[in-house]
Amino acid sequence: MEFIFLCSRVNALILLLTLCSPYKFIQSPMDFGPLNLLQTTHEASLDFGRIVFNTPSAVLKPQSKTDIALLLSSLSASSLSRVTVSARGAGHSIHGQAQALDGIVVEMESLPVEMEIHKRKGEDGISFADVSGGALWIEVLKESLKFGLAPRSWTDYLYLTVGGTLSNAGISGQTFKFGPQISNVLQLEIVTGQGELVTCSRTENSELFYSVLGGLGQFGIITKARILLQDAPEKVKWIRAFYDDFDTFTKDQELLVSMPDLVDYVEGFIVLNEQSLHSSSVGFPGNVGFTPDFGTREKPKVYYCIEFGVHDYQLEHMNIDEVVRDISRQMSYMQSQLYSVDVSYFDFLERVRMEELSLRRQGLWDVHHPWLNMFVPKSGIVEFKDLLTESISPDDFMGLILIYPLLRDKWDGNMSAVLPEVGSTDQVMYVVGVLQSANPDTCNHRCLHDLLQHQCSFAQTAHDQIGAKQYLGHQPSPLHWRSHFGRRWDQFARRKSQFDPNYILGPGQGIFTNPHSASSALR
Ligand code: FAD
Repeated sequence: MEFIFLCSRVNALILLLTLCSPYKFIQSPMDFGPLNLLQTTHEASLDFGRIVFNTPSAVLKPQSKTDIALLLSSLSASSLSRVTVSARGAGHSIHGQAQALDGIVVEMESLPVEMEIHKRKGEDGISFADVSGGALWIEVLKESLKFGLAPRSWTDYLYLTVGGTLSNAGISGQTFKFGPQISNVLQLEIVTGQGELVTCSRTENSELFYSVLGGLGQFGIITKARILLQDAPEKVKWIRAFYDDFDTFTKDQELLVSMPDLVDYVEGFIVLNEQSLHSSSVGFPGNVGFTPDFGTREKPKVYYCIEFGVHDYQLEHMNIDEVVRDISRQMSYMQSQLYSVDVSYFDFLERVRMEELSLRRQGLWDVHHPWLNMFVPKSGIVEFKDLLTESISPDDFMGLILIYPLLRDKWDGNMSAVLPEVGSTDQVMYVVGVLQSANPDTCNHRCLHDLLQHQCSFAQTAHDQIGAKQYLGHQPSPLHWRSHFGRRWDQFARRKSQFDPNYILGPGQGIFTNPHSASSALR
């Protein structure tokens, strides 16, 4: 039954493409002409969130950027433009952002990975990597390390694609120092919504460059990116310090981000329960002797952990242990609750992989992930933390709550990523990631629904009361998106009509509605 239904939709699509396209397609469900569209794949309607499962009408596994340009130019040339298209990177979105209900999913990981490392010497010699949009960051790391180089700005987890994280921002503990990954791109190659292949940078086709970075896949498909590299350290001193007071914790985090010459990485998390202490420590090879008293269910007690890192190339000027001693002397963590280990730079960047493998072994990786990430102005971080801790029960919470400061001047306001609109001159803002898991064995459909509802109203309150903005988020309607973008909306909408005037790209985000969407056309 399902098969017949799918076939009929694919045939309709073929017919539509045949009508719309200047190219000749061979009318067979699995292969029509230059574009070999598949009916669907298992992955195309699946993502890390395991909350939304939208089935596309077809999947393109591009063998070259020309395939992508051909698809988009054919669709765009049609006056009907009914079919929507989503690029899918590694599918690590939470709410179906890379899916395309009844449209076409372009699986970017099928693009042959291209990677060229350019190592430059001399005073103004800038090293960079040219990498394809479907490449994983772990692949970029491995290749650039062969030259003693590495990107400057990371995400915590590296099995994400270059195009996927650049469509959001790409943040981690290095962001305070170098800005998000979108601030570390020199050039992009894009296929626009009209199927034009364009190279862009800060000086060439700059409007497209700024639009696409943080642009949620709305303006074009990233086929290649030029990523800034730096000399890679060999080792990292990885430190964890524990706190029982939130103000002291954030004060010390802000102290650390004020020392970019000494500190290379700053993050932190709330220690809610034993599980959050142990699961976050899977990758940390140090022997942590912290045995906190979490209080009672009625009167729970939470703790906080700062995590920071210092790269060993600072050894040229100072001994790394002296650097860490100097820094930690200025901090106010709980007495003797500071732990440090030396790890290779590669292992440090791979730390979340260790957690992944451990969760996979326990059958806890492929579960629902109702994650919520928000950027919070510094002025509202205490209120945000209070709202958050009041709204969760530490005993029942499965997952991790990350919290760390970022510096606004490391972000380019002309790019599409949205930050809190604050009137104050405060440089510091926070990112808070509520990375919750819901195991279907213990949390049924109703329970997941309640979690999502709760999260939605929490995010709305944090937005309305504190001015917090969602990162990687889902908004319930285009109207909510407008409110999310705030005064940036007009610019975002204008850019959409410039680079994707037929509203073909990025339907999974739900920002714009295609007036002739395929869901109505193909049924
Ligand atoms: P997908 O989920 O496949 O796509 C995301 C969006 O980008 C979609 O709208 C899609 O259409 C669009 N897109 C994908 N490829 C392209 C392209 N080539 N051109 C144009 N648009 C494209 N994020 C952080 O910032 N920091 C972290 O530390 C971090 N850690 C994470 C850890 C885990 C375990 C997971 C699951 C996610 C994490 N993320 C983090 C979130 C992650 O950055 C985003 O979910 C990102 O979108 C994932 O990349 P992807 O390749 O899976 O993209």
